[in-house]
Amino acid sequence: MSDMRRALVTGAAGFLGSHLCEPLLAANWEVVGMDNFITGDKRNLEELEKNKNFQFVRHDVTQFIHLAGPLDAVFHFASPASPIDYREIPIQTMKVGSLGTHNCLGLAMAKRARFLLASTSECYGDPLVHPQPEDYYGNVNPVGPRGCYDEAKRFAEALTMSYHRHHGLETRIVRIFNTYGPRMRLDDGRVLPAFIGQAMRGEPLSVFGDGQQTRSFCYADDLIDGIYRLFESDEVFPTNIGNPREMTILEFAEKVQEAVGSTVPLNFHPMPENDPKVRQPDIGKAKRILNWEPKVPLEEGIQRCLGYFQGRVEEQQGKSQED
Ligand code: NAD
Ligand code: UDP
Repeated sequence: MSDMRRALVTGAAGFLGSHLCEPLLAANWEVVGMDNFITGDKRNLEELEKNKNFQFVRHDVTQFIHLAGPLDAVFHFASPASPIDYREIPIQTMKVGSLGTHNCLGLAMAKRARFLLASTSECYGDPLVHPQPEDYYGNVNPVGPRGCYDEAKRFAEALTMSYHRHHGLETRIVRIFNTYGPRMRLDDGRVLPAFIGQAMRGEPLSVFGDGQQTRSFCYADDLIDGIYRLFESDEVFPTNIGNPREMTILEFAEKVQEAVGSTVPLNFHPMPENDPKVRQPDIGKAKRILNWEPKVPLEEGIQRCLGYFQGRVEEQQGKSQED
């Protein structure tokens, strides 16, 4: 019998899910990736599928999940994650956070596997406490345009804690703050791919509002390292993982211009409703209990992504010339 551990990763064709599968395989896990491609991309699976310990199952996790064989871990990453995605598919967003989380918890129970939920800093909404510690309950508008995502994730956290308390299931919850890296979709509307794509095409950068709102950007490898440490730890309550280096969107636009070597102008657009004015993780808990902190500075992280985004921009331009 194999002594390898076996994990299910939902959302494996997405940005973070695919980045999680790699270190799991490197750490000698067998990995089953599951996705319905609603916001994912088959190309994110290309490298993974070369590994004999990786198997892909196309499935919508809001439907009952049948999976033969043992499982030691369920990493539930499936969910649209960008504001334009969840504005376009709000019902699917609510279903994957609620029904999808329920199915994944049920599967973890049946297999006696440890469950990890990919939650979000959006649980804090437009925060009135800054930086955000895990014991802040948040300031979420349930009926605003981001409510479908924020409340689905808050429900998912509550359901996860209920399975832990009521059934004794081994659970972990990570609250992920803005993370970037290769394999993000160029057109997912998130600020980093939007600005890099625009700068590379020589278009003005689309700054929402006056650009004074802040975010704190974490490189994907740092995030995944923190999540794996959390998974292996004993911590049941939500844990923030993100990079605490905070900056305004205007400062971020400058960083992108410097990295791409472009002097495109800024184009100001109306601020989307309920866009959080500030965001910075308090990572004191992750430092203390996981001995984790991010290592990749933003300048270096952006450099590491440029080749990937250049390829996507060229592909887009090639396609538009064909049309
Ligand atoms: P992504 O859109 O790239 O990946 C999500 C994946 O889930 C996609 O491949 C999509 O097809 C899949 N999916 C969605 N609904 C599904 C369903 N019903 N059944 C099966 N697959 C489904 O997004 P991401 O940035 O990789 O985010 C991954 C997770 O991390 C999400 O749960 C998100 O909420 C969380 N998160 C991400 C960030 C970030 O900055 N990237 C921040 C906070 C939280
Ligand atoms: N933003 C922007 N221009 C864009 C996309 C986003 O100014 O083209 C801003 C957005 O208003 C928000 C921040 O950048 O304040 C981060 O947005 P993103 O969609 O990346 O993630 P969020 O943190 O809002 O979920």
